[in-house]
Amino acid sequence: MADTGEEYVLTKKTVAFHNDDRSAWVIVDGEVYDVTLFMEQHPGGAEVLKEHLGKDVSDLMRGMVDGTEGGHGHSAYAYKLLSKYHVGSIAGVDKYGNEILDGNIDPVTGEQIMDWGKPILPQVGRLGDKYCTWIHSFPTADHTVKMFQNDTLENLTKCPWYIPLLFWIPIIVGCLGFYFKTQTVDPLLFLELAFGGHIFWLLFEYSLHRFIFHMKTTGFVMNIIHFLIHGHHHITPMDANRAVFPPVPALIVGGPIWALMHKTLGVRIAYPILLGFVIGYLVYDMTHYYIHFGDCDNSFLKNQKSRHIHHHYLQPNINFGISNPLFDVVFRTLARKE
Ligand SMILES: [Zn+2]
Ligand SMILES: [Zn+2]
Repeated sequence: MADTGEEYVLTKKTVAFHNDDRSAWVIVDGEVYDVTLFMEQHPGGAEVLKEHLGKDVSDLMRGMVDGTEGGHGHSAYAYKLLSKYHVGSIAGVDKYGNEILDGNIDPVTGEQIMDWGKPILPQVGRLGDKYCTWIHSFPTADHTVKMFQNDTLENLTKCPWYIPLLFWIPIIVGCLGFYFKTQTVDPLLFLELAFGGHIFWLLFEYSLHRFIFHMKTTGFVMNIIHFLIHGHHHITPMDANRAVFPPVPALIVGGPIWALMHKTLGVRIAYPILLGFVIGYLVYDMTHYYIHFGDCDNSFLKNQKSRHIHHHYLQPNINFGISNPLFDVVFRTLARKE
């Protein structure tokens, strides 16, 4: 796991994915440990650990095999050593130790966390400091969330995948027309600046996803804002009407960038950079939609899909690049296991 200092509430199903020496997790007394780096140092050898990866080893640690004594117990020092590798705790286990498959059940109180039939925004606001745990622990493919009671407001939160294309392509064409009419064009410089704008977008996409979309919120208003911009996509990743970034928030984010570059760099330099930037944004939006809902039969898209699914269902604190893994590699947030 990339060391970002975060811990998660996880299900047994999630831990079971981490079952080989590229990503080796175990459960001990309801806590989850990433023992990937410890395997080679295990006094009993790495081999004996392998068949237990992704599983609950609480009994084995106590020297119990199939409910009876007979194995090899572990010392207090072994437990202390293990604590270094703690990544999170198990959720969804009731008082009898049975796994609760519906992730919308609070593992402590046994009550429903969300009433899916009612508008969800006030409910996420009221979750307070439990919001971040809830949003990353219980992705569900079965629900589309109802944000508002009012149907008009509700429809404004939806955006079919083709809307960004219909909105941005005429703007790109109009700006290019203006550029070629008013500027002396050096084709090589134009391409270099557009390429630079594209790399700038990739850094922007990575930073936005890592630091804004995944910021920790606890207050009523901030939980609602976070849910509107990214939280809803983590709780309902397969909601096809909310999988692209709609034009209005894109304008709110992009407008100041356009104004600043236009003013400081002038049309000749700024427009090719902005072209590379906006094309990067459209590629990002379409790639994101396609890796959720398309077939992805070429190897690049297959890899991006695998990384993004890992981000959604296993470790939301890594794999932030959607259209390209470049900055995940640079900042060392690319998952080891794919
Ligand atoms: Zn996604
Ligand atoms: Zn995310």
